[in-house]
Amino acid sequence: MQDKTNAHLKGSCLCGAIKYQVTKLEPNMAHCHCSMCRKFHGAAFSTFGEALTENFTWLQGQSYLKSFTAENGTTRQFCSQCGSSLTFASSTNAGSTVEFSLATLDTPILERPDAHIHCQSKADWYQITNELTQFERDRE
Ligand SMILES: [Zn+2]
Ligand SMILES: [Zn+2]
Repeated sequence: MQDKTNAHLKGSCLCGAIKYQVTKLEPNMAHCHCSMCRKFHGAAFSTFGEALTENFTWLQGQSYLKSFTAENGTTRQFCSQCGSSLTFASSTNAGSTVEFSLATLDTPILERPDAHIHCQSKADWYQITNELTQFERDRE
C-alpha cells in the first residue's frame, strides 16, 4: 500500500526552522505584482498557492512565525529567523483558506500559475514576457 504522506506537498523557510505540508492545492495560482507583495518578497512579484485551511498544516517551527498586518488589513507571515515570506491573507479572509509562497515548496508540483495580477503596480524594470492573462488589479 502506498504511503499517502509521500503524496503531500512539503515546504520550508530558508533556515529550515519552519516546515509545512499541503495535502491539496486549490486551482488558482497567480503572480502578484502589487507593491506590498514586491516588498514582502524583495522580488519583482510574488507567487502564492492556495489551500483550504484543513489541507494546510504547520509541521514544525510555528513559534518562529511572525506576522505583519498592513494598513489595508492584509496579513503576511514570515520566519522571524531567516525572513522567508510564507503566507498571505486578505482582510476579507475568514480563515477558510491559506495562501502560501509557492517558492517555499520543496516538492515539485504539476500545477502552474495561470495569471499575472495587480499589473498596474508592476515594477517598471520588470517586463512580463509570457502569455499568461494579465489583470490590472485582482482577477475578475
Ligand atoms: Zn526560517
Ligand atoms: Zn500582491
